[in-house]
Amino acid sequence: MSTQPTLAGTTGTSNNASSTHPKIAIIGAGPGGLTLARLLHLQDVPFTLYDREGGPAERNQGGTLDLHPGSGQLALKVAGLYEEFTKRARFEGDCLKLVTANGTVLLDEGNKQQGGQEYSGDPRGPPERPEIDRCQLREMLLNSLKEGSVYWGHKLCKVQAHPPVTDDGNETYTLHFTYSGEDIIQGPFDIVIGADGARSNVRPLLSTEKPFYSGISMVELWALDVDNRNPWLSKYVGSGSVFMYDQGRAIFAQRNGNGSIRVYVCVQQPESWFDDCGIDWNSSAKAREQLVDGYFSDCADDIKRLILDSCDEVVLRRLDMLPIGITWEHRGGLTLLGDAAHLMTPFAGEGVNSAMHDALELADAIIHALKLGRGLDGISEEIALYEKVMFTRSQEKAQETWNSLSGACFVKDGAETFLKMLASKGRGGTLVQR
Ligand SMILES: Cc1cc2nc3c(=O)[nH]c(=O)nc-3n(C[C@H](O)[C@H](O)[C@H](O)COP(=O)(O)OP(=O)(O)OC[C@H]3O[C@@H](n4cnc5c(N)ncnc54)[C@H](O)[C@@H]3O)c2cc1C
Repeated sequence: MSTQPTLAGTTGTSNNASSTHPKIAIIGAGPGGLTLARLLHLQDVPFTLYDREGGPAERNQGGTLDLHPGSGQLALKVAGLYEEFTKRARFEGDCLKLVTANGTVLLDEGNKQQGGQEYSGDPRGPPERPEIDRCQLREMLLNSLKEGSVYWGHKLCKVQAHPPVTDDGNETYTLHFTYSGEDIIQGPFDIVIGADGARSNVRPLLSTEKPFYSGISMVELWALDVDNRNPWLSKYVGSGSVFMYDQGRAIFAQRNGNGSIRVYVCVQQPESWFDDCGIDWNSSAKAREQLVDGYFSDCADDIKRLILDSCDEVVLRRLDMLPIGITWEHRGGLTLLGDAAHLMTPFAGEGVNSAMHDALELADAIIHALKLGRGLDGISEEIALYEKVMFTRSQEKAQETWNSLSGACFVKDGAETFLKMLASKGRGGTLVQR
């Protein structure tokens, strides 16, 4: 069923569009969309924010994220949320143990202390990249908006562009959603921002590019309440992360909040691997054993144990990416940020940081134009400038990510190569050879 188009913000959020402001829609309440929303909210710029999920806790939001000083943390500082972030973040999470497949520990930064004031093993000074659970980040950002700011349960299916009504007018956009099993239309909007992640439904209006398989399949394993249930795993992973890099395979084990650990087992395999590898994914215990037998049988016992002991959940993820250096021709009031704009694999830990950096600069562009009293053309010009800078920045990050994937994470002696990469960036800590 289709309803008649409705005006933005007239169905119940507190962000009612006023006649003096352009009508802005943000699609996606991920870290990028929520950061943008917070920054607009701080400047009393109305917006309408939609997300396909039924509510903030409908889906497990995934693991821990390290926020970098010049991007994720910077966005939170401008958003007035840095202090709150420091209360929720794990500074001791920025603490790395690097191991080879045969169990040699190449680097062990020890345990950094909460609050970042004391640390051991890392000559860089206090931890720079504290970790925060994704659900904590979302909760913090949501709490910083007016209640009811997000239209949950709205799955965007397509954006329809409408030509300008007058010669000096601007394109407008209606949004086609499924909501509670029905088709509804919202809009028209003057500005639509796609912060809707990897499978963006805003992107097709700007680019014909689609995400493609990166060559890496990831098996995400969870281990809950490890301090009580698995002291070995708790001690081995410590307060931060354990990375193992080797030819065609890598393991990332990371401490999360609530005493849990997530272990990401990555293999370089064809796209159909999950379906045709013969592993019985329906049985967690069997799957973990088959994974070890088939792909890690020559590894040290500690490495095998990371997989075998992480018994609480198995999540399969094919890792996709967009072409490095993706750009598009600027178009009126449409734009993208975060994964929707430049999806990359997680191998340099840049995705969320880029998304929040985009949000910071896009908010700045819109607010700047509004403060100068510029009309929609002026806002569009500012958005074009945002895109220009974002294209360059995201290309660098995507390249860095690809270099990490192809040059360290999945190559022979990858752990040693990664250690050298860290050393070239001034990070090295205690070199341990056991
Ligand atoms: C296993 C894994 C580990 C990662 N680890 C790291 C890390 O350590 N560091 C790091 O920087 N990055 C990491 N990333 C990448 C990071 O998660 C993303 O780059 C980041 O979440 C992007 O934020 P975003 O807001 O652009 O998109 P998303 O987080 O994908 O949010 C998009 C939002 O849009 C909504 N949405 C999607 N489609 C629609 C639709 N059709 N209609 C309405 N709403 C829609 C979704 O529900 C979601 O809320 C990791 C990714 C994975 C898969």
